[in-house]
Amino acid sequence: MSHADVRAMAQKHLFPHFTRGQIWSGADLPVIVRGDGCHLYDDRGRRFLDGLAGLFCVNIGHGRTDIPAAAGKQMETLAYWTNWSAAHPAAVEAAATIADLAPGDLDVVFFVNSGSEAVESAVKFARQYHRSQGQPERTKIIARDMAYHGTTLGALAVTGIPKYKEPFGPLMPGVHHVPNTLGEVTPADGPAQLPSLQALVATIEAEGPETIAAVFAEPVQNSRGALVPPQGYWTELRAICDRYGILLVADEVICAYGRLGEWFGSAKYDAVPDLLTFAKGATSGYAPLGGVLIRAELAAGLMDSPQAGVFTHGATWGGHPVSTAVAVANLNALREEDVLGNVRRLEPHFQSGLTRLQESHSSVAEWRGTGFFYAIELTGDRATGRPLTDEQSKQLVGEVMPKAMRDVGLITRPDDRGATMLMLSPPLVADEAVLDELLSGVDAVLTAVDAHLRG
Ligand code: PLP
Repeated sequence: MSHADVRAMAQKHLFPHFTRGQIWSGADLPVIVRGDGCHLYDDRGRRFLDGLAGLFCVNIGHGRTDIPAAAGKQMETLAYWTNWSAAHPAAVEAAATIADLAPGDLDVVFFVNSGSEAVESAVKFARQYHRSQGQPERTKIIARDMAYHGTTLGALAVTGIPKYKEPFGPLMPGVHHVPNTLGEVTPADGPAQLPSLQALVATIEAEGPETIAAVFAEPVQNSRGALVPPQGYWTELRAICDRYGILLVADEVICAYGRLGEWFGSAKYDAVPDLLTFAKGATSGYAPLGGVLIRAELAAGLMDSPQAGVFTHGATWGGHPVSTAVAVANLNALREEDVLGNVRRLEPHFQSGLTRLQESHSSVAEWRGTGFFYAIELTGDRATGRPLTDEQSKQLVGEVMPKAMRDVGLITRPDDRGATMLMLSPPLVADEAVLDELLSGVDAVLTAVDAHLRG
């Protein structure tokens, strides 16, 4: 197919995800054909730096040959079997590997195919678990404002971004959202005094603790811009859930498998959740896989109960042999190549580069994040505190930043969920030279932003 053909065929036959029709139908529609390490190549042979690791998922980098080899070997041996009345070695090895890396007694893995399905499965597990323990009235879910937890209807109900939910109502009832941790600093008298946690407790009390099944939170919240929790937030969140008998679900679809420099974000913040949802980095995008890690005691509680005895949930592709074999190869590579060590070693370099960018661009309000996971939040003018107008924000996200990124050969995500931001989340194998290339690309994008706001 020629360049023109592939674009025309995409525009005719491929229905895009979360993409405006105007962008999809344009002559600049990117067609990515190859990946190598931290770089991507389009159909015209142009090279781009992948500043978002695909969609926060290609942790090990593009273009490896060992992971496809593991997939091919598995396909030849056993291309398909289920986790339904039978086990197979690839899923068993993946589950054991993941359980070994996970904190505390998160020892049991339920595999699905995506992050949304993982969240969906965690909601269902929480409800059925409570029912199995004689508490069927525990059905409600609490999550945080502006948090993204996926697009299937249950996960969408848990998501806290109004514009994603609005076209699809009515959604699953019984979901409540509480403030996230934006701008919060732990007060001297401890994390229990944080306004976000006080609001959580107030919601639990108002709704009736005996009606709440689970609280969902990401260790570092992506949507609203890499919200790093204030000191002690997660241990206090754990204590609150324990106090009220509520299951704590860490949604680690982005945070797990090295993004924050640890295998799991919960471990970084010293908490063992009851359920932990994962996807993305489990396979670094070489195959689709999601899952829920479950504390051993809870899994046994459901299986052993006379009321339940079975988790009434499953999927044809859950624990697919090829995806789970890919997960094992990917996790082994992350471990053997000390990729998490790379993230920890380069974090200060990344952060000092972001601070330099903030100092030299009047449009940068602040940067937030940790590990290889950052948001740069934009403003009209930092010195005077002038905010962006809605029109400016629309132009920056829809035109100015995408054009500057194209010009400089950078792929990453301008984000307007709650503020105007640029997200950075490169593959975890990025070395200092790649991070410098990323920072210099972002410098050019911010120069275009400054110029647009001055003009
Ligand atoms: N949860 C979180 C925290 C996510 O970031 C995402 C996706 O970005 C999801 C759930 C949904 O994952 P998926 O797109 O694989 O369905």
